[in-house]
Amino acid sequence: KPRVLSGIQPTAESFHLGNYLGALRQWVTLQDTHDAFYMVVDLHAITAGHDPQALRRRTRASAAQLLAIGLDPARCTLFVQSQVPEHTQLAWVMSAITGFGEASRMTQFKDKSAKQERASVGLFTYPILQAADILLYDTDQVPVGEDQRQHLELTRDLAGRFNKTFGKTFRLPEPYIPKETAKIGDLQEPGAKMSKSNSVPAGIIELRDTPKSAAKKIRGAVTDTGREIVFDEENKPGVSNLLSIYSVLADTPIPELEARYEGKGYGDFKGDLAEVVVEFITPIAARTEEYLADTAELDKILTEGAHRARAVATATLADVYDKVGFAQPV
Ligand code: ATP
Ligand code: MG
Repeated sequence: KPRVLSGIQPTAESFHLGNYLGALRQWVTLQDTHDAFYMVVDLHAITAGHDPQALRRRTRASAAQLLAIGLDPARCTLFVQSQVPEHTQLAWVMSAITGFGEASRMTQFKDKSAKQERASVGLFTYPILQAADILLYDTDQVPVGEDQRQHLELTRDLAGRFNKTFGKTFRLPEPYIPKETAKIGDLQEPGAKMSKSNSVPAGIIELRDTPKSAAKKIRGAVTDTGREIVFDEENKPGVSNLLSIYSVLADTPIPELEARYEGKGYGDFKGDLAEVVVEFITPIAARTEEYLADTAELDKILTEGAHRARAVATATLADVYDKVGFAQPV
């Protein structure tokens, strides 16, 4: 089976619909066709300032939520990044072959650092750690949102460079980014992506939102001038974003939704979408609480996942250390 790998940051108490539609939904389906490795990337989550207690809580909550949306430890390897030390070890080696200039071109760093008073070196080198995350596992495909495309490109460049310099070692991974859900917009600012750390609360639907709050956010979503419900990303980014969300969650093609709401107003449309969203998130929230209630079982799943991940990661790292000329392990 080809291998997939992806990660999500425990930077909030819950994932949002952008995470789910852009990435996690694909994680669930790919479990059946691929050898799947999925991780909660806590090492990445400390690059923009964090609170230790919140990080620990959010790491568990993230794992619980991943199980609640349908990841199955019998069909995929689910683990926490910091429990596999090879990630940071390989990241160091990869950093030595990364150009300062090429790292400086990463737009996510430019965006995120612009919003901070004092951006960390960790935030800057984050894409190199991400490259190590992926390359450790001989990954074929990486299911992510559009915002990660540039980091995937860097990963491929670094893998190719390493192979050319030290001999064939890494597989070059492909991004897996379904177009319809590649970038889910912020409900208050549809041009920007829905984001855990940048969106205002009214701009994101969390999978742990209460039904009341989720419905309110959909009804309060920014829509565009005019009153037609048509998909037109350029002139109607707000409505188009809501149509994308609706289409996937209700498994209904966008043209069918356009036809259904022809001659109706935004109010009807948003009211129905609010119902669809609430129906979708409510059972997930309940299952998340169930997984969180049994932390012993949750930690057991993660420990087993880390062991399985390490079996692959140690082999790759040993090969890398050998190729770059480090002394034999003691
Ligand atoms: P942060 O703001 O802390 O970076 P985030 O919301 O971007 O959080 P990440 O943990 O960085 O979430 O990303 C997890 C996955 O979700 C990645 O594959 C990313 O591409 C995807 N993703 C994040 N936001 C969106 C979005 N608005 N639309 C589609 N995919 C998204
Ligand atoms: Mg992000």
